[in-house]
Amino acid sequence: MTLLRHTPKEITERSALTINPAKTCQPIGAMYAALGIHGCLPHSHGSQGCCAYHRSALTRHYKEPVSAATSSFTEGASVFGGQANLLQAIENIFTVYEPEIIAVHTTCLSETIGDDLNQIRDKAQKEGKIPAGKHVIGASTPSYVGSHVTGFSNMVKSAVAQLAESTGHKNGKVNILPGWVEPSDMEEIKRLATLVGVDSILLPDTSGVLNGPLSGEYKMFPEGGTTVEEIKATGDAIGTLALGEWCSADAARLLDSQFKVPCKVLDMPFGLKATDRFIDALRTVAGVSVPNEINTERGQLVDLISDMHQYFYHKKVALVGDPDQLIAMTEFLVSIDMLPVHIVTGTPGKAFERRIREITKELPCEVNVKAKGDMFLLHQWIKNEPVDLLLGNTYCKYIARDEDIPFVRFGFPILDRVGHQYFPSVGYKGGLRLLEKILGVLLDRKDRDDPEETFELVL
Ligand code: SF4
Repeated sequence: MTLLRHTPKEITERSALTINPAKTCQPIGAMYAALGIHGCLPHSHGSQGCCAYHRSALTRHYKEPVSAATSSFTEGASVFGGQANLLQAIENIFTVYEPEIIAVHTTCLSETIGDDLNQIRDKAQKEGKIPAGKHVIGASTPSYVGSHVTGFSNMVKSAVAQLAESTGHKNGKVNILPGWVEPSDMEEIKRLATLVGVDSILLPDTSGVLNGPLSGEYKMFPEGGTTVEEIKATGDAIGTLALGEWCSADAARLLDSQFKVPCKVLDMPFGLKATDRFIDALRTVAGVSVPNEINTERGQLVDLISDMHQYFYHKKVALVGDPDQLIAMTEFLVSIDMLPVHIVTGTPGKAFERRIREITKELPCEVNVKAKGDMFLLHQWIKNEPVDLLLGNTYCKYIARDEDIPFVRFGFPILDRVGHQYFPSVGYKGGLRLLEKILGVLLDRKDRDDPEETFELVL
């Protein structure tokens, strides 16, 4: 990464080479989703190295200790399969750590061997290795396809597929699948649902797990997280709101087809319009009108946009991140008259490119968009068409430094700043925070570069 300044301006077509990936591997997403289940110990079915990497990636982003177990494959398991390791692990984990539930995800190695998690789980059940009232779920997360977003989606889908039940009686609750957002965002989504008067089940829910207080007391399983009972109850809900096609739609559609829980797939509520649609969906499901408190929050966001519009107007932006977040973020930037001109996600899916093209079709400039792209390509695009702002994860700091671009950290991973755990980016209040951050770097740059004649005290 230190050699980014040598990135050539000329773009060469590449099909079999990724340079500076804009994604990470499936199990990290599966592990993050599993941490949003109360009393859950994520378990990595593979070698110790994979598990150590996944745990450290999450620990560095959330600045919280992340516990996970591993099947610790060595040569034997790599050749003959990891069934014996996993059976032993399930027994040991329930005996030593006493979780409510173990969420197993596979890795490249166990997928290549062909280990069948369902079969191993059934065997563990038959052999009495899963204590009464405890649970084991499993998700297939081969990292040679998809990305961390796919892994997240696969784990949420497995949780409902393997735990949800239907009693035949609706419970009046609404499932909200928030997708991969921060613990602070999950807290905000719950707050908004409660304000509108919706009795919700949020799955997963990492608030209170990865943004907990320092109490001086170590708790292996923090207070937060969706309980197993709540996940079971998702099958009796009156509806599901899935936030994000890539992160949440699969689980929502499964609840729809298997338990007749109707679902609506929405964009993640980043920015004004996507939040409007989310609040409208909540209002519709609750059959109420939008409370004043939420109208006030919306009005504050609109006020900030109109007050500072001159600084946003036609500023060019480059973005990199995950599809669901980028779609909502691009729409937000377009709505405040910014020009998102280079947009890259590492996660595959042509639908992403189509959606971004649709959102940006009225812009008075060319837009570069790529799914399954990488940061090298983003850097090359920036060299050819410079931007005023860069939005993305911590890895963007090399590009920002080399090209001297104002930079706002957004997405996963953020390894060198704090705040994402505590302050939401979703909803109207989250919109205020995003704009405050964007304005902060744009105006800092203006103050730095303005000649003395135009250097202003009041902006
Ligand atoms: S890409 Fe595969 S082998 Fe590498 S850390 Fe991820 S799961 Fe393990």
